[in-house]
Amino acid sequence: MKTDIKSLYYDELENFITEAGFPKFRAKQVHGWLNKGVTRFDEMRNIPRNLAEFLTASSYISVANIEKKLVSRYDKTVKYLFRFNDGEFVETVVMSYKHGYSICVSTQVGCKMGCTFCATGRSGFSRSLTASEILAQIEAAQRDLNVRISNIVLMGMGEPLDNFDNVIRFLRLVSSEDGLNIGMRHITLSTCGVVPKIYELMKYKFALTLSVSLHAPDNETRSKTMPINNRYPIEELIKACRDYFDTTGRRVSFEYAMIDGVNDTDSCAEKLSNLLKGLNCHVNLIPVNSVKGTGYKKSRTDRQQAFISILEKHSITATVRRTLGSDINASCGQLKRNYTDKSGG
Ligand code: SAH
Ligand code: SF4
Repeated sequence: MKTDIKSLYYDELENFITEAGFPKFRAKQVHGWLNKGVTRFDEMRNIPRNLAEFLTASSYISVANIEKKLVSRYDKTVKYLFRFNDGEFVETVVMSYKHGYSICVSTQVGCKMGCTFCATGRSGFSRSLTASEILAQIEAAQRDLNVRISNIVLMGMGEPLDNFDNVIRFLRLVSSEDGLNIGMRHITLSTCGVVPKIYELMKYKFALTLSVSLHAPDNETRSKTMPINNRYPIEELIKACRDYFDTTGRRVSFEYAMIDGVNDTDSCAEKLSNLLKGLNCHVNLIPVNSVKGTGYKKSRTDRQQAFISILEKHSITATVRRTLGSDINASCGQLKRNYTDKSGG
């Protein structure tokens, strides 16, 4: 099996090259070319031919090829469908804010978690992405748009904590000074609630923001839409979030997709307030995006307002998230689904 060279940490790259008998400084050159975005080793002009040959025979460079690109007419949101070396696709979204560009990357091709409201969850699982494939989405978008991306959210296709080792590697690579150098404070990792992995993650004490997709205030409601809740019920999840804050000192975010008549009643808001009492957190309310075949509708605006008022009454900070790119199906999973439906894949 060939080595995935862009998933290596710098010291691993150095070992890889010196163990093959080349001097250490060659690693620096190779690293420089990889950062520049070359896609083939024979494009590395200042390295000797035998090193290029060794690298070509022993390793490969991950690339995210733009298969399709959509730009929103309303805001500057851009959505990519990227194709990897083996022909698998993922979606990536770039949003432009006052303070800079933010990218929503995918961590898996599909997802095993099967949340009923989610386009990705409904289309099954193919494989996890490597660290370099997660990085490649950012590199490709930066190159295409000619901008520097300052914020990353792991909220695209897939469950990041179900691809734990590759995601940790990605986080370290992307935040390292000799990489893209995007600091942990500018990274948000979203999870549906894989409790043991939340405990593993907190041991790293990264300064990133953990965002938990809660979407319901009790087990009965949550288990209806999120099968993971049958494995790790809500009390265990919230306990893990409290421990996460105690260990890392980082405020936890909760995502709550408001679905008309499912989780948006006053009583749900009261239960949610009770559940989160005393926890340093922030709640993002998102009117659910309708996905073909689910029958879910977004909550009415007056429901969103009533819900938020109840949370505020209990001193829980919450905001209704602005939806960007509504004309280009900017929530992940939807573009790929439409694309592969049409192409018969
Ligand atoms: N698997 C991770 C991260 C990817 S999903 C997770 O579940 O957190 C990113 C976010 O989009 C999650 O909060 C998820 O619950 C939310 N989401 C999925 N489908 C949605 C939809 N139809 N409308 C609104 N939010 C949705
Ligand atoms: Fe997977 Fe997240 Fe979609 Fe659930 S919401 S199916 S965990 S991608």
